Amino acid sequence: MLGSGSAGNSALVATDHCRILVDGGLSARQVVLRLEQCGVTPNQLDGVLLTHEHGDHVCGLEILCRKFDLPIYCNPLTAEALRSSDLAERCRNWRLFATGTEFSICDITVQTFPVPHDAVDPIGFVFHAGSGTLGFITDLGYVTKMIVERLRTVRTLVIETNHDEKLLQNDTHRPWPVKQRIQSRHGHLSNTAAAGVIEELLPANIERVVLGHLSRDCNTPALALTTVRASLEKCGRTDVEIHCATQFEISTQFRIGDTDPGAFQPTFENAFFQRAP
Ligand SMILES: [Zn+2]
Ligand SMILES: [Zn+2]
Repeated sequence: MLGSGSAGNSALVATDHCRILVDGGLSARQVVLRLEQCGVTPNQLDGVLLTHEHGDHVCGLEILCRKFDLPIYCNPLTAEALRSSDLAERCRNWRLFATGTEFSICDITVQTFPVPHDAVDPIGFVFHAGSGTLGFITDLGYVTKMIVERLRTVRTLVIETNHDEKLLQNDTHRPWPVKQRIQSRHGHLSNTAAAGVIEELLPANIERVVLGHLSRDCNTPALALTTVRASLEKCGRTDVEIHCATQFEISTQFRIGDTDPGAFQPTFENAFFQRAP
């Protein structure tokens, strides 16, 4: 996780052959700096994959695309929503896919599925490469049965723990409608809600969870970690690793699985994607 929180989100998913930026919601400067800490230059990126069009997921992309010719992978509605921004001008390389489809970027297979959130067509991902499977859900009001089904194969899960319910209720800075939006079925998962989702996945393959997208003033890493840890302990599952990503620095790098180190033969057809937004 290059950085995660209500002020900006970006993550790097990589194999020996492929490097994908998931969202670009940090300043371009920070994205470049933090990639460097992972030993990756922006020129090595194979593309940026977008969950949705909110500013905390796309704000660095315009400058990043001005400097580097990065393909942007997203669904047509998200591209359309970004069309009025300067990003449409800057980025000439859009690769559009329909929500619900599965495609490959080099040796990483990306499964996409819709999530309930107040954006035009927000999505979550499951990534497969070699023995590794990674689930990625941030920005969603609740978890549907379909999402749980999609996540059953994952061993590592990135999930948002946006807010502590009590801190949000007692918050004096946010007007009531904003609080209602956050708590709504198209808002964000609380610590307790995320813990419930992780519990549902315990009978499946889950081995590691990475908490993210924490609200700056209605949550703390300690609260999120404690809530999820307590719920796992209650289920007798102290074997599941729990980490919390933060806003201002990169997280630990997680080794999710092994891929074939040999040369990669691209078999993937670019024709799958519509190019223009
Ligand atoms: Zn967000
Ligand atoms: Zn959002």
